[in-house]
Amino acid sequence: MKFSEMDTQDIEAALQTSIEEGLREDEARKRQQKQGYNELQEVEKQSALLLFFAQFKDFMVLVLLAATLISGLLGEYIDAIAIIAIILLNGFLGFFQERKAEKSLDALKEMAAPQVYALRDGEWTKTPSREVVAGDVLKFSSGDRIGADMRIIEAVSLEIEESALTGESVPAVKFSDPLKNAVDSLGDQENMAFMGTMVTRGSGVGIVTATGMETAMGKIADLLQSAETMATPLQRRLEQLGKILITTALLLTLLVVIIGVIQGNDLYTMVLAGVSLAVAAIPEGLPAIVTVALSLGVQRMIKQKSIVRKLPAVETLGCASVICSDKTGTMTQNKMTVTNLWSGGKMWNVSGTGYEPSGNFTDEGAAVNPRQEKALHQLLTFGLLCNKSDLLTKDEQYVLDGDPTEGALLVAAMKAGLTRDVLAQKFTLIKEFPFDSTRKMMSVVVQDENGKQFVVSKGAPDVLISQCSSILWDEKLQQLTRDLKKSVQTAIDGLAAQALRTIAVGFKPVGPGTVLLHEGEAEKELTFMGLHGIIDPPRPEVAGAVKECREAGIKTVMITGDHVTTAKAIAKQLGILRGKDRVLDGKALSDMSVGELENVVDDVTVFARVSPEHKLKIVKALQNKGHVVAMTGDGVNDAPAIKSADIGISMGITGTDVAKEASSLILLDDNFTTIKSAIKEGRNIYENIRKFIRYLLASNVGEILVMFFAMIFALPLPLIPIQILWVNLVTDGLPAMALGLDKPEDDVMKRGPRSPKEGVFARGLGWKIISRGFLIGLTTLIAFVVVYRANPDNLPYAQTIAFATLVLAQLIHVFDCRSEQSIFARNPFGNQYLVWAVISSLLLMIIALYYPPLQTIFHTVAIQPRDWLLVIGMASIPTFLLAGSFLVSKSK
Ligand code: ATP
Repeated sequence: MKFSEMDTQDIEAALQTSIEEGLREDEARKRQQKQGYNELQEVEKQSALLLFFAQFKDFMVLVLLAATLISGLLGEYIDAIAIIAIILLNGFLGFFQERKAEKSLDALKEMAAPQVYALRDGEWTKTPSREVVAGDVLKFSSGDRIGADMRIIEAVSLEIEESALTGESVPAVKFSDPLKNAVDSLGDQENMAFMGTMVTRGSGVGIVTATGMETAMGKIADLLQSAETMATPLQRRLEQLGKILITTALLLTLLVVIIGVIQGNDLYTMVLAGVSLAVAAIPEGLPAIVTVALSLGVQRMIKQKSIVRKLPAVETLGCASVICSDKTGTMTQNKMTVTNLWSGGKMWNVSGTGYEPSGNFTDEGAAVNPRQEKALHQLLTFGLLCNKSDLLTKDEQYVLDGDPTEGALLVAAMKAGLTRDVLAQKFTLIKEFPFDSTRKMMSVVVQDENGKQFVVSKGAPDVLISQCSSILWDEKLQQLTRDLKKSVQTAIDGLAAQALRTIAVGFKPVGPGTVLLHEGEAEKELTFMGLHGIIDPPRPEVAGAVKECREAGIKTVMITGDHVTTAKAIAKQLGILRGKDRVLDGKALSDMSVGELENVVDDVTVFARVSPEHKLKIVKALQNKGHVVAMTGDGVNDAPAIKSADIGISMGITGTDVAKEASSLILLDDNFTTIKSAIKEGRNIYENIRKFIRYLLASNVGEILVMFFAMIFALPLPLIPIQILWVNLVTDGLPAMALGLDKPEDDVMKRGPRSPKEGVFARGLGWKIISRGFLIGLTTLIAFVVVYRANPDNLPYAQTIAFATLVLAQLIHVFDCRSEQSIFARNPFGNQYLVWAVISSLLLMIIALYYPPLQTIFHTVAIQPRDWLLVIGMASIPTFLLAGSFLVSKSK
């Protein structure tokens, strides 16, 4: 017999589990060890050894190795061994950088790993999906991705989209009853839920029947393994740039070699010099350093509570010009408390804060007993009947399990002594039509102790009242006349103007034997009962973040399903709605085409009473106006907008799996402020990448030019191959990495967003690289020539001077790279990694200059103290000459 044909008891027996208690934790662990993790096997990764060897497959490195081999054969053992040592070191550095990048990306994947709700030892706990075993009892609801194959034992309006398995994109309606006849096709198994499919509506409970590779998904897993490309736009641009640089460097190198040979240098030396130069000049380390900088940045972002799911988002974040954010929970605290209740023209207040169920009811300041106010009591009772939330106590604190809006109604009822247990004695739940943010309502069908059935609905007041034909007024059922409707509207507006979230409650009796199959039938011809006014205070830090964004040229737009007046009141408090800013509601949005919306979208800062479907239109209109849009969302219906936004953002706490998977950024704390921090970090990461691109390329330009000039002016080689390789490894690598860890400049959130079309060398970077590189090459050459002319017999000494000048010039220039403006714009020693990187590079150079065994290897000679003045003087010029102009312009 198949699981789909069994009834619940048989499944419990077959899988040795209980639907009341779930599995015991120790039993689950035992099964997990036996069955393995609930995950699909992945394609094998490149082994460490292969990754290491991959570092040497670079063409130029191979040529260098060949050249070294030749020099070894010619008897230049020391040179050969030293060069090989340097190549190996370089290889190790590349290897560790790539490993680090890979590891941190893996760690990211793990953090974003899906979780499920499992019943273990009688309690619902959030468990990593991979630890689920057969026999586990799981619950799931709209927006969840199904974590394992399950037999459904409870289903409330459950619909699951199974296109990943069946190709059918229309969601399948699911039931919990056993099937009469076994079916094989997945699409027909109406009481089964399969791993990897998506719950698009309703909720359910299931018993896991298969995990990992045993699932239907596991059987076709091979087909699904496709590697996602993760290169960011900058990485792609750098790849192209790399090709251009290699060609240029090779051409110049070739030129250097040819001229050198024509001028009488011997071919062997020139070839080795040329190849070394090419190795040094090609920034082969650049892509790895970019990846490391990106992934370290991503780790910093995790500390600030955001997870980047797609690496390219890191860069796009820095370009964001509009943030569209949900209000509830993202800009507000989502700690909802009912403060006002209204029914039949009467208003009551409730005291108390948060979810603590203690507070008093008053009527214009006078205490009232809610049990004696019939309308009030009924309003509270209905608010609790049409409600799925639960209040738990953990560590002597009240924690809410469920939707905060419903939690507020639950707590308000509890303040009047009404609890679930009390109501359970009188009412039984017959059917439930869950809340959805498009319909903006939820309803239940209940039966009271006398066997009478009725519908209880709650929802957005303007929506609910449009489905009402009568109203309870003065404890009497009356027709909902235009005048009475007006009174209700005034009450709604009054509550909303105080920034309160409003929920209306209605009901209707259902004749015996009536079966309501659809919410459309249940939610019409209702009797209006009353209103709950709920306070949801703004998060205190959001106003500051909105202001900071405005200074950074980023507009904040509030998008909410809440009432227009409530939204306005909160948007004003947060500084989002100011001056001439406009508010648009869902209805106006529906009536507009994308083109019409484009004409006004720049003036709108609040979209209220919108449905998730509207978000896509807003994204499109903003993008058509040239904006780079960040859009938040949490539900299934938000996914299309999240996907089409430039930066899709989902909520870590309240977000559904569907929203998370569509997003490129997850906010771990659901907080708007975190978006701002992520944007700041995104800008910083990009700026840091610019910093070391500038440093590395200027250094390379300097290295090539000093050799090139020397050849043109018929001078001897200013640097020998091993020295060039040293500069490449010791002087370039560490400081460049340290630049990647730099802190942002003070004004990083005072500038406008970067254009996404901007090239690598934009904003003067190209000029900075060429001018500084040129000067580094020139001053190194001058130092070389001065010493060589004074002492033509001692070429190694002049070469040592050139070597020291080049290294020092770069190590000074690296501090200049920390600022887009000038070395004087910020404290040069503010980045301690850089200070240590420079100190160690300097020390290593000094050892190479003065330690006799290394002198033999690097062909260096101890520099006289007098000549250090020349070295230091020349090395300072490239940085300070052009920085001087900054000081001059600043003093003006
Ligand atoms: P956001 O600001 O993130 O868009 P929101 O909560 O304001 O969130 P929705 O969740 O779509 O937006 O809610 C829209 C309206 O539906 C609310 O203003 C409220 O009146 C009503 N509502 C919200 N939650 C429930 C619920 N659980 N049951 C019935 N009505 C609800």
